[in-house]
Amino acid sequence: MNNNIRRGLVLVISSPSGAGKTTICKKIIEDINNIELSVSVTTRKKRKDEIDGKDYFFRTEAEFSSLENKKKFLENANVFGYSYGTLKREVISKIQKGIDVIVDIDWQGTRQIQKHIPNDIVKVFILPPSIKELENRLGNRASEDKKNFIKRMSEARKEISHYTEYDFVIINHQIEKAVSQIKTILFSERNRRHRQLNLNKFIDNLK
Ligand code: 5GP
Repeated sequence: MNNNIRRGLVLVISSPSGAGKTTICKKIIEDINNIELSVSVTTRKKRKDEIDGKDYFFRTEAEFSSLENKKKFLENANVFGYSYGTLKREVISKIQKGIDVIVDIDWQGTRQIQKHIPNDIVKVFILPPSIKELENRLGNRASEDKKNFIKRMSEARKEISHYTEYDFVIINHQIEKAVSQIKTILFSERNRRHRQLNLNKFIDNLK
């Protein structure tokens, strides 16, 4: 019987907004057992279809600062003029219990998490199939006004320039294919030797 105990991993997924990241993350959570999505805190306004506590914890700047002062964040950054942060409680205790966690964050947050828990993270960057497609997707987002759209396109280009800091790069030509590629990465990473905590004991029993 294989009763290996595994340490969970943190699957960091970054991309420019509009590359399909949110949809991809949701599909992975739906399809795979033992993986959860980390819910971030943000000070940006809630979009029409978003739910507080599910998509984000929507908080004021003062509430965000208070969490920061209390050292509740594993990482936090300013993205598009708003504060975003990953709570330690959404990640650390889960990976200790062997549950994998997806964090959908930008390159700044990725660098911070890399510093704190380098052995626990797997970094995936998702690219849109073309800049035209990215424009279409961002332009179609009803809640974005024109000024915001231009700002997001410029931020998207900046985010893309950081792809070299990631372990894996996936081009999202087709959502199902991108999901399947990320699943392959996840299943392989779950088998890394250093994540299998009682291998020594298991090997002893094989002798
Ligand atoms: P949106 O506001 O469109 O949901 O997200 C904007 C950007 O903020 C995305 O690139 C997303 O990955 C990033 N983001 C979301 N949550 C966090 C977080 O907790 N930390 C960091 N550093 N970035 C985040």
